[in-house]
Amino acid sequence: MKIGVIGAGQLGQMLALAGHPLALEFLFLDSSADSPGARVGPIITGRFDDPASLRKLAAGADLVTYEFENVPVSALEKVSRTRPCLPPVEALRVSQDRLLEKQLFQRLGIPTPPFRPVDSIDELREAVTAVGLPCVLKTRRLGYDGRGQHYLRRPADILPAWAALGGVPLILEGFVEFDREVSIIGARSTRGETRCYPLAENQHRGGILRVTRAPHRNVRLQRAAERHLRRLLDYFEYAGVLTIEFFVQRGKLIANEVAPRVHNSGHWTIEGAVTSQFENHLRAILGLPLGDTSPVGHAAMVNYIGTMPDRDRILALPGAHHHDYGKAPRAGRKLGHCTVVAPTAAGRDALLRQLLRRVPR
Ligand code: AMP
Repeated sequence: MKIGVIGAGQLGQMLALAGHPLALEFLFLDSSADSPGARVGPIITGRFDDPASLRKLAAGADLVTYEFENVPVSALEKVSRTRPCLPPVEALRVSQDRLLEKQLFQRLGIPTPPFRPVDSIDELREAVTAVGLPCVLKTRRLGYDGRGQHYLRRPADILPAWAALGGVPLILEGFVEFDREVSIIGARSTRGETRCYPLAENQHRGGILRVTRAPHRNVRLQRAAERHLRRLLDYFEYAGVLTIEFFVQRGKLIANEVAPRVHNSGHWTIEGAVTSQFENHLRAILGLPLGDTSPVGHAAMVNYIGTMPDRDRILALPGAHHHDYGKAPRAGRKLGHCTVVAPTAAGRDALLRQLLRRVPR
């Protein structure tokens, strides 16, 4: 069985690493021949929307999935005419547009920050009045890791925000004074079986995920997050792994965004859960029984961003699981990560402190 993966970044690489013990083979499509996926499978080098490359991928694989959210929907539609393509294209379409995403959350009774679409400076002024200050102006499409965002604190920020982002479809969201950020990851198989991982707590810096700790134990929030996740999984008749990122404000979940794929905040599941998100994604799209999503202890994951740490110093830390994606260093780029797992939350936090001292900031 050969899985075609659109995108050969680290998520594709980790999918293949999880699939090899299941005797799965992988074929990637990526614009760059030296992407992380190249270490674990052949790459068709081409653009995600190049018809010839897509035909080659579909012809060479039994089933196609994607690891990258900004794949053109039209590309997936083309592929799905000749090969099963999962997760469903509709989930990708919605997740690519922050407005559609928030409207769907609303429709399914999933709380969101107040929001308004913005296509002109006048609409921006009206939206600021409706949503209130402080607020965040974001591009509807192609924004990730905090890119394409502008914070507004005072009325004087309206014009600069418009100058920075105007000209493409935008969304204005109320700024959430959150206590913490959490995410939930769940899988639904083609047979309709679903499983959810425990909540993870995420710390971002400059809009980029830096540290995840899991499980984040809170029975009430876990129940609410699972309810929201299952609504989305059922709505899309989903197959694969899906992630929702939430703000927690005064004990309530407020949805920020959804990702129809394996997610950075789930990397801890490789060593910290019985079955990793990567393996469960593959099991889900292949219609295999889903694996146990229970944690095996208390895990923390630290991203290596921009600069790799000294590998030997990381490996000298007992129980450190070092992942080097083999990417060239560049400011703001995710180059790898490290996970530590301990039997107790306090033990995990002690290991995390040691790990953070070894990772360049
Ligand atoms: P995003 O690209 O929407 O995931 O945003 C990246 C990060 O920016 C989030 O994880 C938050 O830390 C912050 N952020 C985004 N939207 C908001 C908001 N409406 N209120 C407060 N913080 C936000």
